[in-house]
Amino acid sequence: MRATPLRESDLLVVLYTEEYGRVSAVARGARRSQRRFVGALQLLVLSRVQLSRGRGELWNLESAEIEREWTHLASDVVSVAHASYVVELVGSLLPAEVPDVQALQLVCAAWDSLADGGPSAAVLRAIELMLLDLAGHRPALDSCAACGSELSAGSVFDPGRGGAMCRSCAATSRSAGVQSFGEGPRAYLKAIAESESLAAAREVDARFPDDKRAARDAMLAMVTALVGRPLRSLEYLAKLAAASKGR
Ligand SMILES: [Zn+2]
Repeated sequence: MRATPLRESDLLVVLYTEEYGRVSAVARGARRSQRRFVGALQLLVLSRVQLSRGRGELWNLESAEIEREWTHLASDVVSVAHASYVVELVGSLLPAEVPDVQALQLVCAAWDSLADGGPSAAVLRAIELMLLDLAGHRPALDSCAACGSELSAGSVFDPGRGGAMCRSCAATSRSAGVQSFGEGPRAYLKAIAESESLAAAREVDARFPDDKRAARDAMLAMVTALVGRPLRSLEYLAKLAAASKGR
């Protein structure tokens, strides 16, 4: 998920593993000798690793070998931005050292989806919804998050209170990130949530061309409220979007 220099010759890496979930480990000598971990510690790579308990919370990375890779996507900046966002979501929403094989499968499915059909807004929303669900914070989309009543005109999305809110509950919603949430973006997110695969979710974009932005804003508000800070990969995505508009 991430690699940062540590001392003169080591790397501090964050891995999402099948057996232990998210772990932080020291890859000794990884900066001095490229041979030991050749390419196995980067984004868009699934590796088979050997870990041993180190001091405190840090593990030692003994070896890493590439099992599957999607690194051909690295030449496309938008694909890399989407991949980075997925990884940052997993790292921010799920607790450390709690294994969740679904999360690992979802990351691999996200790379497959980027390779098969390129970046897609609906696929990102599907991944957000699944990870929020795994984290125990699936946003309410069917009925009011506060009173359970049916949603109608005047509904809002309140990330601090768990999702969609009916008009009367909305009157007491004052947390940051509260926004109007019409029938369109709600139907769009529901269609994505009901999709059985990322490939099926991708098809939803074409049906709701005018609702993508509001739905994105609601989901990003939800993620930001839960994580408690803006995600770095999102700032990068916003910059890319601004740059493509300028062209
Ligand atoms: Zn209500």
